[in-house]
Amino acid sequence: MTEPPVWTRFETVALHAGQEPDAATGSVVPPIYQVSTYKQDGVGGLRGGYEYSRSGNPTRDALQACLAALEDPLGAAAGTTRGMAFASGLAAEDTLLRAVCAPGGHAVIPDDAYGGTYRLFAKVLARWGLDHTPARLTDLDAVAAAIEPGRTNVVWVETPTNPLLRVADIAAIAEVAHAAGALLVVDNTFASPYLQQPLLLGADIVVHSTTKYLGGHSDVIGGALVARDPEIAEKLAYHQNAMGAVAGPFDSWLVLRGAKTLAVRMDRHCANAKVIVEMLLAHPKVIEVFYPGIEGHDGYSLARKQMRDFGGMVSFRVSGGESAAVEVCNRARLFTLGESLGGVESLIEHPGRMTHASVAGTPLEVPADLVRLSVGLEHVDDLIADLSQALG
Ligand SMILES: *Cc1c(COP(=O)(O)O)cnc(C)c1O
Repeated sequence: MTEPPVWTRFETVALHAGQEPDAATGSVVPPIYQVSTYKQDGVGGLRGGYEYSRSGNPTRDALQACLAALEDPLGAAAGTTRGMAFASGLAAEDTLLRAVCAPGGHAVIPDDAYGGTYRLFAKVLARWGLDHTPARLTDLDAVAAAIEPGRTNVVWVETPTNPLLRVADIAAIAEVAHAAGALLVVDNTFASPYLQQPLLLGADIVVHSTTKYLGGHSDVIGGALVARDPEIAEKLAYHQNAMGAVAGPFDSWLVLRGAKTLAVRMDRHCANAKVIVEMLLAHPKVIEVFYPGIEGHDGYSLARKQMRDFGGMVSFRVSGGESAAVEVCNRARLFTLGESLGGVESLIEHPGRMTHASVAGTPLEVPADLVRLSVGLEHVDDLIADLSQALG
């Protein structure tokens, strides 16, 4: 048998990594192996290593191989970088933190972390003895000051952040974390692996909510971990099975189908977002626009360096305060009023009252006049028309 070729270009990887035609039938997409257990050929005689679907399932394996290759094609081909699929982004995070941290340990987290991540640290893991310190990740000195060498297990990075789209320097933070003996974790949900590959910039573990861009169609909840170091990957895989929050076969299949078109979707998300940003910047009712692709935006040069493009998330402040921002959300028709992001359809929301309501009164509180958009794939002229009428 000759070795299969190693594809490294993103579009090709997305369509083929982990997706060899099915050995039994030639099916060109991995079938949904909706099964819990597998017949053994004599005790311990496993076919392809499959024993029980929490431990291993061919549909999930296909997705996991693809996820690893999307974040690090060469490492995945070498068998060192591994992907793991979970029932949700938060299930992936919980598994990761309980695998690599211990009671008495400590994490540095973004001071504008995703609300669910913050809640996991503050309300769940704190009770099990894992401390955390929020830090402004755009300030390297603040990150270094928040690290407690010898005690800090992980530095947790989100970039761009939600909802203010701040950009953190992954390579620089990796150095600071590693110098103190901590692992660097990057939640790559907002950028997706098409726009940013943190493992290649020095991160140890990438986290995804595959619910968002990777799935891309607002029809599945899922999460992922991808790790580069075989020892860390093995520890995560052990905990994935031992804790059991795995992605089911159909959910795995949906995420894998979404991943196939990630590159073309992201290109259009980015292109539509740019047109909308231009419109917002020129609009008299808009006070401030947050998007890493704006030349004056704090993260612009860094985003250009570590991202392929600037993404499909846009936030802006509306003159007239909270009620004006809420009104814009309520008046939108084509933009669907709803939480989540990264789907083909455009969404609009008021972070202060919706996604970020739980952080009111904490250092993570967001401006009350802020509106967040997840720019979708509708015709951009229709999106512009809807936003114009919503802004009044
Ligand atoms: C949605 C999201 C999560 C959590 O993922 P779920 O799939 O909802 O559990 C984590 N991080 C970011 C940045 C997210 O947007």
